[in-house]
Amino acid sequence: MAKAAAPIPLFKVFMAPESALMPRLRDVLYSGQIGEGPPVAEFEQRFGEFVGRPNILSFYSGTAALHIALLLADARPGKEVISTALTAEPTNLAILHAGAEVVWADVDPRNGNLAAASIEEKITPRTRAVMVVHYGGIPASMAAIHAVAERHGLAVIEDAAHALGARYAGLPIGSQSDYTMFSLQAIKHLTTVDGGMLACRNPADLPRGRRLRWFGMDRAAPRIEVDVAEVGYKYHMNNVNATIGLVQLEHIRPVIERHIANGKFFDAALRGIPGIELCAWDAQAEPSYWFYTVLAERRDDLARRLSELGIGNSLAHKRNDRHSVFAASRCDLPGVDRFFGAMLHIPCGWWVGDEERERIAGALRQGW
Ligand SMILES: *Cc1c(COP(=O)(O)O)cnc(C)c1O
Repeated sequence: MAKAAAPIPLFKVFMAPESALMPRLRDVLYSGQIGEGPPVAEFEQRFGEFVGRPNILSFYSGTAALHIALLLADARPGKEVISTALTAEPTNLAILHAGAEVVWADVDPRNGNLAAASIEEKITPRTRAVMVVHYGGIPASMAAIHAVAERHGLAVIEDAAHALGARYAGLPIGSQSDYTMFSLQAIKHLTTVDGGMLACRNPADLPRGRRLRWFGMDRAAPRIEVDVAEVGYKYHMNNVNATIGLVQLEHIRPVIERHIANGKFFDAALRGIPGIELCAWDAQAEPSYWFYTVLAERRDDLARRLSELGIGNSLAHKRNDRHSVFAASRCDLPGVDRFFGAMLHIPCGWWVGDEERERIAGALRQGW
């Protein structure tokens, strides 16, 4: 009997080679300086070069970065933030952390990202910001979303947890909005074990952002003279995570390139398969394919079939509007109904080799 092919996971942690990582990790662990110090500042600088924005604040998680972005955008009690239900929970919990209200807009049925026209319909005098997720690594229609935000004086916060290395209008995601958050959690394109980055348009946000991530205090000021004038948090990144991040960053280009090469392979290889609809996006958008999303007829049957064949697949996220904590925001979202009812995520990352991606395409071609 032929040996069963090895399972292909939907997610896998990328860690830089031991020979590159361990000496530097050992150095920092025994340096006597494992809190926030020079490696954190260096990682912020290098990360800023990578995403094309010099104004970077690092955090211990992406969720913390989102919380601070919302505070910097003045999203507070009495204010509304327009957001998407099609995302991981932290996107929207962060809005509640800031004390603001979540208002759902509907998604573009082509790709599950917020639709600019729906955002515009949801604006009220209390709207302060728009939270845009690039779901699965496909950039949302940022030209149209920025136009709406500018017309109404709203801040734009991008949740780019899935979209490191993606581009829009020829520029990296991270370089184009008021705030862009990247998650460095275990299974994202680049992990520091845990961590988050916030790319800010305005350098004037940096001093307050640094205070907010450190108990409301200026770390440079003498501890005895400093005044806490605003509630801050313990959200900073430490030297250990930053050192891992510095080494990861040196190895990340080929990782992201492989996600993109696999994504483009599926864009071509899965086209025209009966019962499968592929996502579509703006001509200016260049996805970084964190996972690959297909819209399938009898989706649950396809999911079962792929699992039998050892091909990882999942919905990854529950639509957030179904959680009790967001009950006050409930509304009709026909685009989410349609997209969530048909979507299935399949593996597309750096661990998917030529043979594996052929196996995945073959399984879909065979039918279910
Ligand atoms: C992972 C993720 C986050 C949160 O990131 P953490 O670093 O785990 O806090 C936020 N939004 C989305 C869409 C995510 O996938």
